[in-house]
Amino acid sequence: MELTLLGTGAPGGLPRPDCPCAVCAAVARGRSHTRAATALLVDGTLLLDLTPGPAFAAARAGKSLHGVRQVLLSHPHDGPALEIPAGLPAPVRVSERQELALISGHRVRAVALDSPGTGYQVTGPAGECVLYLPPGAAPAGLEEGRDEAGTSYPYDMVLLDVLGRPDALAKLRGVGSVGPATDVLAVHIDHDVPSGPELHRRLAAAGAHTEPDGTTLVVGDYADLPEVPRRTLVLGGARSGKSVEAERRLESFPGVVYVATGGSRDGDAEWAARVTAHKERRPPSWRTQETCDLVPLLEESGPPLLVDCLALWLTDAMDRAGAWDDDRWRINGSRMVEERVGQLVEAVRRTRRTVVAVSNEVGSGVVPGTSSGRRFRDELGRLNTVFAAECEHVLLVTAGIAQPLRG
Ligand SMILES: [Zn+2]
Repeated sequence: MELTLLGTGAPGGLPRPDCPCAVCAAVARGRSHTRAATALLVDGTLLLDLTPGPAFAAARAGKSLHGVRQVLLSHPHDGPALEIPAGLPAPVRVSERQELALISGHRVRAVALDSPGTGYQVTGPAGECVLYLPPGAAPAGLEEGRDEAGTSYPYDMVLLDVLGRPDALAKLRGVGSVGPATDVLAVHIDHDVPSGPELHRRLAAAGAHTEPDGTTLVVGDYADLPEVPRRTLVLGGARSGKSVEAERRLESFPGVVYVATGGSRDGDAEWAARVTAHKERRPPSWRTQETCDLVPLLEESGPPLLVDCLALWLTDAMDRAGAWDDDRWRINGSRMVEERVGQLVEAVRRTRRTVVAVSNEVGSGVVPGTSSGRRFRDELGRLNTVFAAECEHVLLVTAGIAQPLRG
């Protein structure tokens, strides 16, 4: 099956007309690709959604709409009436679970969603299977191991609003509809994510990619699938947005284990409020585990781990070693902390799980007034360095902006 992306943007296109935002302005100035409303041409015979000037968009992509036998819409279109070129069949929306057989040998099945609109599952004459979802949509009622249409999982390719609905991708992964060999393509790209390298970086973290308008893809051509980094360290100062960045990196994966290294801290109301705020932000399918015992978690196999954060883990390691006291530090505290850090780093090196760890970037600010404070700062700097050395990907977050230091 050959798929031509006549558009890859949100329904309003990118840049949005007359939008003063920084993303739209950058796209308008030619800093990155302009994107028309998402529409797909399948094997020159089936058109999924309409983009402005579809015949021209097809011509620019080296294709023609003359062979189109069916035009299907996936979502209600507001704004000006759609322009339908002469000779194109009238667009229709198929109702939930209805199935169509095209003369070209393609089969189309409407997929129920949790939002107004219809998803389409398209099976090619050779059996390849693609899922296309409208903007802001996730499939409704997926069950593990089978889908409502009885298709053999996983899909060869899925096209969806990866950035707007990362939970939809998590859901598809959770039931096995998206596997390691599924090509995940982000469409309906809007102005809420910086375009250019940041867009590609965020999509790569979700195991997805985006292509410019006019690209033609062959379904089942797995050559360029992005590889999700196994180990990521996210560094940042206090309230820099580092935890949000770490969570964002895993939000398209199901069943993530959130490892809170801060413990429960009985009686500390401010701490409890922070923990609650973090919990509320996280997807409901995630599980929280409060522990500083990271080595067994890294050694087990299982869903991705999000460790928040290494500074609190080090606080615990220093507590256990009595390292806040100058004499105890000299006698054996220093050695105990070094050993514990060594065991952690070894486990990170050997882990087969996807791990995203958060740590505080310290040392560039005020020099702590106590010797134990300076000791903590130094030890955390060392821990960050040896941890980062084992990670494929290291990010520094400042004012909510993540800059890749490695990867
Ligand atoms: Zn905008």
